[in-house]
Amino acid sequence: MPVIRSIHANLNVLLAHKDSRSIDIALDTIDLAKIYENVDKLEQENKDPNLGYDDLVVKELLRYFKHDFFKWINSPDCPCGSDKVISKGASRFPSNTSNPHKISIVEVYQCEKCKQRVEFPRVNNPLSLLAFRKGRCGEWVNAFLLLLEALIGEGKDRTRYVMNHEDHVWCEYFSYNLKRWVHLDPCEAVFDEPLLYCNNWGKQMSYVIGFNANSVVDLSGKYITKEKQIPQSSIVDPNLVAKTIRWINGQKLQQLYNSYRMMQNKTEDQSLIQLYNDAIVPRNHELLNETETFKPTTSHSEIPQGRQTGSSEWTKARGESG
Ligand SMILES: [Zn+2]
Repeated sequence: MPVIRSIHANLNVLLAHKDSRSIDIALDTIDLAKIYENVDKLEQENKDPNLGYDDLVVKELLRYFKHDFFKWINSPDCPCGSDKVISKGASRFPSNTSNPHKISIVEVYQCEKCKQRVEFPRVNNPLSLLAFRKGRCGEWVNAFLLLLEALIGEGKDRTRYVMNHEDHVWCEYFSYNLKRWVHLDPCEAVFDEPLLYCNNWGKQMSYVIGFNANSVVDLSGKYITKEKQIPQSSIVDPNLVAKTIRWINGQKLQQLYNSYRMMQNKTEDQSLIQLYNDAIVPRNHELLNETETFKPTTSHSEIPQGRQTGSSEWTKARGESG
């Protein structure tokens, strides 16, 4: 059951991004002066009254991250200088070895020119990625989320990792001004275009699942159009997915309640009220407003057709060329 498995695998994906030391390092790594200078410019030019200061910070972070900070790679360059390498498969990172960069697999290539072996380790530790600064969508979103957390997270449950079952990831943040969760694709520097994948890339999808620190949410209805919906029952029992998410969210509420009681020494009543205000109300608000707020706010005509990151052969093979 691959969908259920990947839900369980990503439950604590944001834990590393909430680490205060990592956040401090992130703030020291990026060019804050340049970012805020550009935000000031955006503020002066901004004609959308619905966007507040931190929405503009997010927009600038998308630009900065894609154009000044992170690099897309289809395959690694050879140390000899050649960029012509042939894939020779991949191997799992040995589980009995120390793995500070949280490498999942190591892709192996051979240089066409000098024939040496070139490795591309897929790094999952966001802190390591601040130094490596390259990868594909997994690395992009992982590193971007740490910077997003550092700039607007405020230690709250305001950022979300989003996983598509057909091999793409992106993220969301909660906008206080727009009063909803906003789609962000760091690889494409796209802000608030949830139908980017179905309408622009022409991508067919079965499931889209969001992972917050305190909950899991099925976002398939937000991102998948009727035309591009792969029948969910063709890959998994949808009732089992719904049940799994309900069970996990129950567990997450329990953990949150325990943290109020144990870590913050709150009374039972105080903890229940905080749980209601911080977790239950926001989630119900999102579920209730699903149909109204899940519409894209801007026209797709502003965005180039098809996926921009990745070579044309690569996007075509994935059915994402628009
Ligand atoms: Zn070489």
